[in-house]
Amino acid sequence: MIKVKKRKFLLLPGDGIGPEVVGEVKKIIHWFNKNKSLDFEIDEGLAGGVSYDKHGTPITDEVFYKALECEAVILGAVGGPKWDHVEFSKKPERALLKLRKELKLFANLRPAICFKQLVDASTLKPEIVSGLDIMIVRELTGGIYFGEPRGIKPIDNGERKGINTHTYTTSEIQRVSRVAFDLAKKRKNKVTSCEKSNVMEAGLLWREEVQQLHDKEYKDVELNHMLADNCAMQLLRNPKQFDVIVTDNLFGDMLSDQASMLTGSLGLLPSASLGAKNKDGKVRAMYEPIHGSAPDIAGKGIANPIATILSFAMALRYSLDLDKEADNIENAVQDVLNDGLRTKDIAEKDKKEVSTKEMGDAVISKLK
Ligand code: NAD
Repeated sequence: MIKVKKRKFLLLPGDGIGPEVVGEVKKIIHWFNKNKSLDFEIDEGLAGGVSYDKHGTPITDEVFYKALECEAVILGAVGGPKWDHVEFSKKPERALLKLRKELKLFANLRPAICFKQLVDASTLKPEIVSGLDIMIVRELTGGIYFGEPRGIKPIDNGERKGINTHTYTTSEIQRVSRVAFDLAKKRKNKVTSCEKSNVMEAGLLWREEVQQLHDKEYKDVELNHMLADNCAMQLLRNPKQFDVIVTDNLFGDMLSDQASMLTGSLGLLPSASLGAKNKDGKVRAMYEPIHGSAPDIAGKGIANPIATILSFAMALRYSLDLDKEADNIENAVQDVLNDGLRTKDIAEKDKKEVSTKEMGDAVISKLK
């Protein structure tokens, strides 16, 4: 059995702007060790295109085992046009899929928070998004992206048929719903479960299993069911009606992207992927910004590190139960935004823009 080393983070900076934004997290980890006498350990590894360039594979076994041994993985981003020609099984993104699959990361948590200082960056009216704070919990390892049978096959009339299978079991639905209910208890105590129970049997099963779990274990949490297409509409019409949304892999993919855009900038939003408990009772987890490797701005020192810094705050909250330290980071980010500091992606007209490093330093200067 692999023993998880206490408080050890594996940093996988990855490609493009990944190393720049993860570099700022490293500074924050050092700050906590120095100023709060915490004993965080850092390990680092290659993942994505950089690993392919050096080792011919997007993630080596050595790095993968490090991921199994640490408390949490903090990933920057992987991919970029440089590796477009690489064969499918060696593409940088395969590193992510392998980590998600092997660490059994079945619950993807994506907050959509609209910082009041940045309401104008949203395409929606300020009164619709100001103060928005939603958590979308997406099932990540089941459903139509993984179901069998799948494939493309020739059929009798000379045409071809594409097949994917949408499938869920009771335990798959209930374990991700449990994450949603537990989260809701720490927030506004409300869960909205989304599926298409009107046209899909797997959707009907989803609705029934979520309801059953609720009635058995979470009666004190408010539960609503909503069809996924209606949820897409409601997210634009009145997003503040939601607290926690739980949904399957396919609908979660779309609804979480839609929700993140309500807030205006990719550079601000973190995410967490949580897995099953190992024998030590520890939940395996990976934390990463929702944005990609942004090859168009890589190496320029202008990427916004806030999404990655907030991903680290999520790691402290969900993997180490260090709520106070997570609050410390989140409050520091708010303070920096209140002071008007902006990287290029969230810059306001005629206001000074700060670099990635300056933004990281500013957050550190506000830590208490
Ligand atoms: P992207 O998120 O990398 O970039 C989209 C736009 O947002 C770009 O204009 C970029 O400059 C900007 N942007 C993104 N993050 C930013 C930040 N922190 N600060 C300032 N601006 C930022 O998406 P893309 O361009 O579609 O993808 C680029 C590469 O990243 C592709 O190879 C894709 O496969 C990969 N990707 C990886 C992940 C991941 O590692 N989890 C996720 C999405 C995309």
